[in-house]
Amino acid sequence: MLIVFLGAPGAGKGTQAKTLAQKQNLTHLATGDLLRAEVAAATALGLAAKAFMDRGDLVPDDVMIGMIKGRLEGPDSDGILLDGFPRTVAQATALDEALTTANTSVDRSIFFKVSEEELVRRLAGRATCPNCQRPYHDTFNKPQNTDKCDDCGSDLIRREDDKPEAVRNRLKVYATQTTPVLEHYQKVGNLVEVDGEQSIDAVQEDLAAAIG
Ligand code: AMP
Repeated sequence: MLIVFLGAPGAGKGTQAKTLAQKQNLTHLATGDLLRAEVAAATALGLAAKAFMDRGDLVPDDVMIGMIKGRLEGPDSDGILLDGFPRTVAQATALDEALTTANTSVDRSIFFKVSEEELVRRLAGRATCPNCQRPYHDTFNKPQNTDKCDDCGSDLIRREDDKPEAVRNRLKVYATQTTPVLEHYQKVGNLVEVDGEQSIDAVQEDLAAAIG
């Protein structure tokens, strides 16, 4: 099974992907997390990607396509959940080609629909545990101890690209470069829309129904 999560930054893809991947034994491939790991390890790829990420721009397609292609083969799971990829039509087309070669295809693409006003509200207060990746929020999902992870006690971090200027750019980049990907999957016929403004549990239920 291959599932693709689509939606703006802050739409809740990462939160839902973690739960769904666990429940359905899927390999969760989050390109943002993979890139942040490369940055943290100061690899050549990470160093090249960091400036794009900090500004809220997309990392070039050839880098991203290479990164995902290498991971599509051989994971020991019941399938793959792509979170944050594809983000351009060129990435979607390259993914289709790679899957066709492997005699498979995207089973479901899920669009998390959230208004821009709500996206800005969510992104502004976001914090993450750098150790176990658990997400927090200043208003909706506070840790018990200020700026410490409830699960592992690590100091929470705030992403450089959650600062206001980068957030504005990420939403602009999403509107211009990523929304055409929705049309791509609409044409393919596997796109399902989920109301991402509902509670986390309600979104989870809708996802389960969408995947079947
Ligand atoms: P995310 O954690 O998904 O919000 O991704 C953080 C940042 O990583 C994005 O703002 C981009 O700079 C970069 N990134 C993640 N996935 C992709 C992708 N598929 N294509 C290009 N850049 C990406």
